[in-house]
Amino acid sequence: MARIETPKRIRGTQDIFGEEQRRFATVVDTFDRVRRLYCFQRLEIPVFESTAVFARSLGETTDVVSKEMYTFEDRGGDSLTLRPEFTAGIARAYLTEGWQQYAPLKLATHGPVFRYERPQKGRFRQFHQIDAEVIGAAEPAADVELLVLADQLLHELGIAEGVTLQLNTLGDAETRDAWRAALVAHFEAHRGDLSEDSLARLEKNPLRILDSKDPRDRPIADAAPGIDDYLTSEAGAFFESVTKGLDAAGVAWTRNGRLVRGLDYYRHTAFEFVTDRLGAQGTVLAGGRYDGLIDSLGGPATPGVGWAAGIERLAMLLAEPAVEALDVAVVVENRAFEMSSFAMVSALRRAGFSAELFASGSPKKRYDKALKLNPAIAVSLDLRDGEAHVGHRILRPEDVDAAKVEAVIGGTSQT
Ligand code: ATP
Ligand code: MG
Repeated sequence: MARIETPKRIRGTQDIFGEEQRRFATVVDTFDRVRRLYCFQRLEIPVFESTAVFARSLGETTDVVSKEMYTFEDRGGDSLTLRPEFTAGIARAYLTEGWQQYAPLKLATHGPVFRYERPQKGRFRQFHQIDAEVIGAAEPAADVELLVLADQLLHELGIAEGVTLQLNTLGDAETRDAWRAALVAHFEAHRGDLSEDSLARLEKNPLRILDSKDPRDRPIADAAPGIDDYLTSEAGAFFESVTKGLDAAGVAWTRNGRLVRGLDYYRHTAFEFVTDRLGAQGTVLAGGRYDGLIDSLGGPATPGVGWAAGIERLAMLLAEPAVEALDVAVVVENRAFEMSSFAMVSALRRAGFSAELFASGSPKKRYDKALKLNPAIAVSLDLRDGEAHVGHRILRPEDVDAAKVEAVIGGTSQT
């Protein structure tokens, strides 16, 4: 008979289990706790959207749209795309669901996103992001609040050390136009030395040459004119309010005048939290202000600012998270207790204690097996001289309300 071959896991996807899963869950749980402290509402949006949602808002020439999207035609002939990020879908929902009435809206979400990239450490084709956005707030205070939230998250995850907040401004439309013209002139003068990719960018998106990782481009990009000479006074004042707000909130930052974002929709504030602990994949959290995004989706001019972070990259930085602790192990040492032990574990669980039953395998080894899970309390159900004997040992008294556990055990072992 022909052997059936097991289908492979798709390249760039992950099955997350064990310690990796605990790291992942720590990031998500901490994010969910911290976003509540800042009164960000949780929302869920679809995993796929009309391709136009991303093509229009991210910009046709960006890497994500031009080569990374998972785009397909569904059976009805519509062009759909698996979300490569959250912001565009949230902006679409804001418009189509009439959420303008709630503005300003502080939103948080997390889940899988999809990009066709070359898989490597910290870079996947299905990866996961946590995401925070403020839509409908034009004030620099919104940028500050999001950055302080990000900073607190990194602190609560215990990974703030060695991660720096790099901050830049991309100015307003007038600033960008003037800066862009100066950049084009500069890059034109060095045309012959630029990489092919950057030559293509020169036509369509010259700002992104600043972001190039190609060693041929670096000296030219590093010598390019900075934005500061072109900042309008409004844009300068906006940036100053952001930096002063961060100082007031006690969030450390450094200016990186070369920082531009890979997506076209950003204005004013742009930022990345960067570490040197993850090699080439050093950006853990990134975002900025996207005052042009909602218009690009056909909505009224609406300000917005937000960030996203790769859950996998944050998870890699974590110290090893503790295994979920077991409160009570119930060990059935004699078959006579098989049924009554169900009553006991059920009662413990209903009372809010994690409980595991050990009733299979060699009776002599069950107790040792239970101890391996490091329970706070181990209960043993046995017969001694024909009489029921319910004994327990408190192993980690500081971690459990022993009196309450004893009351539950007492209550169920009577019957
Ligand atoms: P990079 O320069 O690493 O490609 P990016 O600028 O494309 O990042 P964003 O679009 O800003 O990334 O996404 C926000 C965050 O999502 C990144 O800072 C990173 O933590 C994470 N991220 C991006 N792409 C991937 C990927 N392919 N695999 C895992 N995490 C990723
Ligand atoms: Mg990328």
